[in-house]
Amino acid sequence: MTGSSGFVLVGGGVASAAAAAGLRDQGYDGRIVLVSDELHLPYERPPLSKEFLSGKFGLGDFQANPEGWYAENDVEVLLGTRVSAVDPGGQRVVLSDGGSLTYDSLVLATGVRARTLTGFEGDRVHSIRAIADSERLGARLAPGTHLAILGAGFIGCEVAAIAAARGVRVTVFEPAPVPLVRALGEEFGTTMVDIHADHGVDIRAGQQVTGMTETARGIELQTRDGEVVECDELLVGIGSIPNAELAVEAGIAVDGTDGGIVTDELGRTSAPHVFAIGDVASRLHPTYGRSVRVEHHDTAMRHGANAARNLLGQSVPFTDEPYFWSDQYDHSLKAVGHAGPTATKVVRGSVEGRSFSVFSLEDGRITAVATLDRPRDLMTTRKLLAVPHQATAAQVADEDFDLKGLLPQRPRVRRTEAPS
Ligand SMILES: Cc1cc2nc3c(=O)[nH]c(=O)nc-3n(C[C@H](O)[C@H](O)[C@H](O)COP(=O)(O)OP(=O)(O)OC[C@H]3O[C@@H](n4cnc5c(N)ncnc54)[C@H](O)[C@@H]3O)c2cc1C
Repeated sequence: MTGSSGFVLVGGGVASAAAAAGLRDQGYDGRIVLVSDELHLPYERPPLSKEFLSGKFGLGDFQANPEGWYAENDVEVLLGTRVSAVDPGGQRVVLSDGGSLTYDSLVLATGVRARTLTGFEGDRVHSIRAIADSERLGARLAPGTHLAILGAGFIGCEVAAIAAARGVRVTVFEPAPVPLVRALGEEFGTTMVDIHADHGVDIRAGQQVTGMTETARGIELQTRDGEVVECDELLVGIGSIPNAELAVEAGIAVDGTDGGIVTDELGRTSAPHVFAIGDVASRLHPTYGRSVRVEHHDTAMRHGANAARNLLGQSVPFTDEPYFWSDQYDHSLKAVGHAGPTATKVVRGSVEGRSFSVFSLEDGRITAVATLDRPRDLMTTRKLLAVPHQATAAQVADEDFDLKGLLPQRPRVRRTEAPS
């Protein structure tokens, strides 16, 4: 490393926080500056549509590192500060307050922002990405309120579950005929629609909202079918956009398909001394032989820990499998692995009984699983993904077949009697 500028981490999410923690864990004692345009220290976002929205968690319950950790570990945190430009040639970032920082290496961990819809704006229109969004929506969820949600993705469905439990009337509009199909498959989509219906949530699959009008009493939504639906509050949950503008403006390569900042397997971007991690990174995964951009909490944290090692010159490729969970009512959806487009889907368990897993098989190997209330399938698949194995669709579908039997058998250790 040259000079004493140290490492600058851009972003106040878990990826940045984990990178800072990882650097100190690795024994690095130089300068670390974390720059975040948020007003809170880095925190975990999953509770924003779950425990924080329901009121179960308070503000201090989901911090990425404990509050005092940054001062104790001599990590400088600039809150409420945007990085407005990156100058890779000069190894310098420009800050929104007019200042600038030089760096030995820079980490872009700028995450994603909620996708918005033109024409859907106003005081009663919400999206959830940050603490303030969840607080604002939570304050509006009084019993009897009618909340409409655009998009039956994970965030939309989680908010629907919390709102329903608070006595809110919920209508979810989803343009696809079955929700969650792309992420988890048809069985999950239909089962989740039924589970939500049991809790009084109306998921209108195949229905698209085309416009909205604010009225004196609330919002009127117009659907493609010509229906007008009145609601009090509206959540737009239609996906996200990577915050890759800093990279684009600095001439750093961005993936034309997923919009993420392109990196190699070590997290290095096309500019020297600039790394990208977390949701914003489109990263070469050595196992898949192609780039993936993963928007999962677990991956963002692991990217952070991995970045610390690579910033310190250890050259450790990131090979971890994506892992994701979503909690809705008393159900737990979990998924691990990465399925290619040609994967064969195999169901294990009971779809009617709402306890099943959908496995992805490619070339006789399990490459991913999505589970509904089946933690054991998830744990076994995690182990299988890490080792060579062969599996058939019939074995995977057969509940009497122990999937652990697919794991390589450990050689038995024979006990020999000690000579007396
Ligand atoms: C409501 C919600 C629920 C979720 N639930 C789950 C879940 O159940 N399971 C799961 O696996 N994942 C979930 N996720 C996704 C998970 O939270 C993300 O994968 C994770 O937050 C990514 O972390 P990150 O650090 O890469 O980016 P982010 O958390 O997006 O952080 C990026 C940070 O960079 C800041 N920033 C951006 N540009 C600049 C700039 N120019 N200057 C300074 N700062 C900047 C942003 O303000 C932000 O602080 C959820 C996300 C949300 C929003």
